[in-house]
Amino acid sequence: MKIFDPHCHMISRVTDDYEKMALAGVRAVVEPAFWLGERRKRAGTFYDYFDHITTFERQRAANYLIDHYSAVAVNPRESNDVPLRDEVLREMPRWLDRASVVAVGEIGFDDITEAEAESIRRQLEISRDARLPVIVHTPHVEKLKGTLKTIEIIHKVGFPPERVIIDHNTEETIQAARDSGCWCGHTIYPVTKLSPERAVNILEKHGLDRMLLNSSCDWGPSDPLMVPRAVLEMRRRGFTDEEITKVVWENPIAFFRQSGRLGPALR
Ligand SMILES: [Zn+2]
Repeated sequence: MKIFDPHCHMISRVTDDYEKMALAGVRAVVEPAFWLGERRKRAGTFYDYFDHITTFERQRAANYLIDHYSAVAVNPRESNDVPLRDEVLREMPRWLDRASVVAVGEIGFDDITEAEAESIRRQLEISRDARLPVIVHTPHVEKLKGTLKTIEIIHKVGFPPERVIIDHNTEETIQAARDSGCWCGHTIYPVTKLSPERAVNILEKHGLDRMLLNSSCDWGPSDPLMVPRAVLEMRRRGFTDEEITKVVWENPIAFFRQSGRLGPALR
């Protein structure tokens, strides 16, 4: 079974994880830009990070025959440092020109502040100019409120919903995300967010169109094999190989193909 995990923070993982993912069928990943724990205090640390995820990680993945793509953005949490955010947003389009950058992301709400809303609006415009799709993070607290406000902004600025992933959905947000016309991401974590069982429950209830599963494997409690674990759960429930392939391979390809930058194996 070929797997495309559309949301992995590989900068936080050891090389052994790439090997395990390759052994479990993962052939492609997208690494969105996020926050690294310690608050960044200068623009240059963003630029080095953008370099890292668009070059070094791509090579590390290639050693295990995994196609590594990335998304670049000022993440929701660090969007609240307005002078720093504005400085980075002025320079950011340089990285959006790179051949392996397939989206702007992750943008969205964290604390649901006005500075975060402004950052979403600005980066939707930047995405439009760069002709790239967008990955949207939904907040950990007040998730439904944050999701609804994000959808409102997407509609208000007229960004095409078919070029957006609303990510980290749960049972609470999925109906709103479906109704928005956006693609719907589901992050499967060992502790918080969704378990494989809960993610598959959502697929059973809401169908497979525009649905995506990811591990978001990062520096917190997380597991880079969560998509393969969800595949096993789908098989247990009686989904066919064709249906599973649609969710874990064809759907992410269909979405990120909109960037025009997927490699020959994924077109
Ligand atoms: Zn993330």
